[in-house]
Amino acid sequence: MTTRLRIAPSPTGLLHIGNARSALFNWLYARHTGGVFIVRIDDTDTARSRPEYEQDALDGFRWLGLDWDEGVGVGGPHGTYRQSDRLDRYRQVAESLLADRKAYWCFCTPEELEERRNQARQEGRPSGYDGRCRTIPSESAAERKAAGEPAVLRLAVPRPGETTFTDVVRGEMRFDHANVDDFVILRSDGSPTYHLASTVDDVDYEITHVARGEDLLSSTPKHILITRAMGAPVPTYAHLPLLFGPDGRKLSKRHGDVSVRAYRDAGILPEAMFNYLALLGWSYGEDVTVFTREEAIARFDLSDVSKNPAVFDPAKLEWMNGVYIRDLSADDFADRSVPFVERAIGRTLTDDEKRVFADVAPLIQERVKNLVEVAPMVTFLFTDEIEYDEKSWRKVLGHETAPGVLAAAIERLEQVDSWDHDTIEAALRGMLDDLEIGARRGLQPIRVAVTGSSVSPPLFESLEALGKERTLRRLRDVAGRLGS
Ligand code: GLU
Repeated sequence: MTTRLRIAPSPTGLLHIGNARSALFNWLYARHTGGVFIVRIDDTDTARSRPEYEQDALDGFRWLGLDWDEGVGVGGPHGTYRQSDRLDRYRQVAESLLADRKAYWCFCTPEELEERRNQARQEGRPSGYDGRCRTIPSESAAERKAAGEPAVLRLAVPRPGETTFTDVVRGEMRFDHANVDDFVILRSDGSPTYHLASTVDDVDYEITHVARGEDLLSSTPKHILITRAMGAPVPTYAHLPLLFGPDGRKLSKRHGDVSVRAYRDAGILPEAMFNYLALLGWSYGEDVTVFTREEAIARFDLSDVSKNPAVFDPAKLEWMNGVYIRDLSADDFADRSVPFVERAIGRTLTDDEKRVFADVAPLIQERVKNLVEVAPMVTFLFTDEIEYDEKSWRKVLGHETAPGVLAAAIERLEQVDSWDHDTIEAALRGMLDDLEIGARRGLQPIRVAVTGSSVSPPLFESLEALGKERTLRRLRDVAGRLGS
């Protein structure tokens, strides 16, 4: 049997780390088993669904390298793979469940439901729907409905009864129907609930494995009940452990960024994100934390997923990102950094500038944990309007020895013929000897004057990349401002 797995984002916000992890596990299992990975869109919540969020989810999957074989954007035998285009199908299923007496109309008003819920709570009884409309003869229910009385459709959950299933991650699960009320499958406006739409999709798309967050565990008996009522085979379920922050509390905005987009914008490499997400509930084994996509595919099994909560720690992700950054070829690092530099300076780089950047990029590659850190180190190369870091100016250029250092450096560098870092280094070291001054006091003023900050790639390489003329212009300008 070919395995068929899916991810079903609701486009009501930016793609969440937790959903990306679910997508990844489904994808890994589909690839491991030579199966099919499907992306569908759960957009029945029309009030909150937005096309830009759908786009964000698809972009996020593509960025992570999670390609899909069927679904939104790539097609397949089931139309657009958007729930909003399948409303007729959900209604059709609802009607056949009604015809089979597996579902019934409920005319209770929200106020009545509220009152009875409160009453049940006070008396310590279960507060779910009490089944009052279940006993209305179907002919009179049909008449009331036809006469325009507002009604929702509820599933008639078999009573007494229980739903059991074997969760791949959590083992034997048992839900007594005493705790599963006759839940709504069609709202009074005729729209399907998540339970109905999701289950009908899983049945129609012949999903064999549903791997999703543990927060949906209590929905699963409902989905199994609908599946059985439709006469369809029940898929295998795997509920993935919830994500926690480093403080041991459930992952939320309080912990910082929780969207894939934010990490992408922060210069995390997709390979690093892929690798890190794979470790949220799964482990490669043998104490190996860094592995390739192919290695993960070869080893991954849903049955190896842990049921213990997984900790999402942005600091560990950054560490891993640093490992991946250093592993890139110099060209690849430069290519991937360019968009971040361009974003920071607000324009595209010319081909010449790209070459200059490629020359200094290897020096930066060793120093950064993400690609956002690259731009501040190189903007001095691409603008002549240097913004001086106030603290660096005060501490370094404000020192009494700074004017003399700059004057001596200008004099030395003016005489340099071939502008490469060895020659520049020799000239400036000669200056240090002349002035009998240490490297910190003698070189930092040059760095700050030329780059605007005391943090930059190594000095001699920076000056080489900047060129003789621009270096001297900046030194003279700052020397003038210091009045030397
Ligand atoms: N749209 C649901 C979500 O994003 C999907 C749940 C499921 O996988 O069934 O949470």
